[in-house]
Amino acid sequence: MKKYSIGIDLGGTKILTALINRENGEVTGLVKKKTKKDKGPQNIERKLIDGISELIETLNIDLSNISSIGIGSAGQIDRKNGIIIGAPNLDCFDFNIKEILTEKFSLPVFLGNDVETAAIAEHRFGAGKNFDDFVCIFVGTGVGSCIIKNNNIIYGHTGTAGEIGHTIVDLNGRPCACGAHGCLEAYASRSAIETRLEGALRKGRYSCIMEYLEEGKSITSSMIKKSIDRNDELVLQCVNEASEYLSGGIASIINFINPELIVLGGGLIDAVDYFYQETIKKAKLKSLPVPSKEIKFKKAKLGDYSGVIGAAFLEDRVL
Ligand SMILES: [Zn+2]
Repeated sequence: MKKYSIGIDLGGTKILTALINRENGEVTGLVKKKTKKDKGPQNIERKLIDGISELIETLNIDLSNISSIGIGSAGQIDRKNGIIIGAPNLDCFDFNIKEILTEKFSLPVFLGNDVETAAIAEHRFGAGKNFDDFVCIFVGTGVGSCIIKNNNIIYGHTGTAGEIGHTIVDLNGRPCACGAHGCLEAYASRSAIETRLEGALRKGRYSCIMEYLEEGKSITSSMIKKSIDRNDELVLQCVNEASEYLSGGIASIINFINPELIVLGGGLIDAVDYFYQETIKKAKLKSLPVPSKEIKFKKAKLGDYSGVIGAAFLEDRVL
């Protein structure tokens, strides 16, 4: 077995490229490139190639020690062919990333999505270590999940299994980016909380979160935490509402799949312990008695590095 592989976390604000030790998941070197402004396939291609080249040069490592390049990308992907089908956050569509990087570096290239890579990392080295049946749920711009059964990811017939964020919780509900109405992520994501807060502030409601807001910048998880610590009525109302919906979604997973463990991650879960605790308490109350008694909850452990670590192990997955 080769000692290292390269893991890449390709997101709408940054690209992280890291050399990962395959024995222990250690991040040996890391290069960060911003993707905020220059997007589109040409820019992304250049930044990916520059990131990998810089990593190899800085660490002075021989390519013969590297087994593969794995990429966890935002958006819709074709795993078998290594194509980013559509990633609006990156302005990339029908982008054959596998072909480009294989040609440039002569290494095997594997493509996965960002939820999948985070779940792989948590399974190997994080909260899901030593568990073979569990579900990872990440709350951020959306609500994504990944199902692990008998130590393998369940991808589903078209590779889209785990889209818990698009389960419908209100038939005549809020519009969702996917085109449907009433999807869970329109109620339970960090973005949903932000939208609710911004709407209420525009209508003149008071919240101490206004003291932390900066012109043109959005609400962050840490602002939400600070406001909850001050017992802010409006922020508590919005977070409680999101937790009510998220716990309903989690209870449905518990009833439907009956996993041993649920791992919860993402910026809001990391930053706001109140949100995490309320959500798991309510999810237990809402799920059926037998699975509810046994279900375990853990917070994701690997934070910002879970994407690069998991991407480095995409080569081991069974599609
Ligand atoms: Zn949706």
